[in-house]
Amino acid sequence: MRKIQMVDTKTQYLAIKDQVDAAIHEVLDSAAYINGKAVKDFAQNLGSYLGIDHVIPCANGTDALQIAMMALDLQPGDEVITPSFTYIATTEVVALLKLKPVFVDVDPVTYCMDIESLKKAITPKTKAIVPVHLYGQAAPMEEIMAIAKEHHLFVIEDNAQAIGCDYTFSDGTKKKTGTIGHIGATSFYPSKNLGAFGDGGALFTNDKDLAHKMAMIANHGQSERYYHDVVGCNSRLDSIQAAILNIKLTHLDEYSKARQAVANYYSTAFAGIAQIVTPATGKHTTHVFHQYTMQLKNVDREKFIAHLSAKEIPCMIYYPVPGHLQKMFGGQNNQHWNLPVTDSLTPCVCSLPIHTEMDAEQLAYIVEGVKSFFN
Ligand SMILES: *Cc1c(COP(=O)(O)O)cnc(C)c1O
Repeated sequence: MRKIQMVDTKTQYLAIKDQVDAAIHEVLDSAAYINGKAVKDFAQNLGSYLGIDHVIPCANGTDALQIAMMALDLQPGDEVITPSFTYIATTEVVALLKLKPVFVDVDPVTYCMDIESLKKAITPKTKAIVPVHLYGQAAPMEEIMAIAKEHHLFVIEDNAQAIGCDYTFSDGTKKKTGTIGHIGATSFYPSKNLGAFGDGGALFTNDKDLAHKMAMIANHGQSERYYHDVVGCNSRLDSIQAAILNIKLTHLDEYSKARQAVANYYSTAFAGIAQIVTPATGKHTTHVFHQYTMQLKNVDREKFIAHLSAKEIPCMIYYPVPGHLQKMFGGQNNQHWNLPVTDSLTPCVCSLPIHTEMDAEQLAYIVEGVKSFFN
């Protein structure tokens, strides 16, 4: 049996090696390593796939979030509402820009932003909401957009874990996650659902002025060569990564299906185990399973992990410390946020291997390994 990994980027590469190698060599031959044709093509192709007017490639997903917040002219002290139960990048950039992260709770079923918690967190200083489509399914965007409109707030979607996910509005309209808010931000980190062979990220918007501004900020605030209108940064997707992503984008839907098949297999196999809460998908969203994250109820998680580890089955805790309790935000003293769901999920979540190249033998072995803990 092939060694089981959380993510198997090598096997995925081997399956499309000829295409990818040819695309890389094309960039090498062109010598247009920065801002080459592949970057423009990728922005165009991703825009068509998502159904969005503007895609601005950048260096990584964290930069994408930062550039989005810079483009909205948020001022020091402005409040940005975001879940605590997410990867740190989401909240880190808020603090980096001297904005105030306001942590809200998540829904206990979907693990995405909780609407009641969001409503309670709004103050006169609130300027933006950053929902995270955690683990691969959409936050309740229709409700979030309605609240944002009522309070004149910007919405930046953190779509780093959900590219390809579809959200359905109550009138039946479907949109891709990342294209619903004012700005969407994503990451092409190798283990993401659309992963490069290095770092990469992108911003999405239908707003022409915002698109222009974000492109300018990502390029040293430059409007014309050597004319710098605003303070920006240097954040580029390089041509080789764009060429690879161009190939992988054509496989994205089949990759999502492969992930969904793995998730179905696990959930069916674990249905009879009372101590496992398998992941549920919200009503208005598909799920592209960036992670397969279950909850372990009345289980010693350390023992469970050790049991799997002895069988060489990896698993991970996403995330062991929620944002509001990270040392950068005051650590364990920072308990004044009232986030009961986040606090209850953190000690019991556990994510199993999920990727596009898992075979039947590996899946059966993992399921047996998990089941044997409960026998
Ligand atoms: C990966 C990730 C990011 C950051 O992306 P990088 O490309 O690693 O900077 C941001 N938010 C979430 C939710 C992520 O999973």
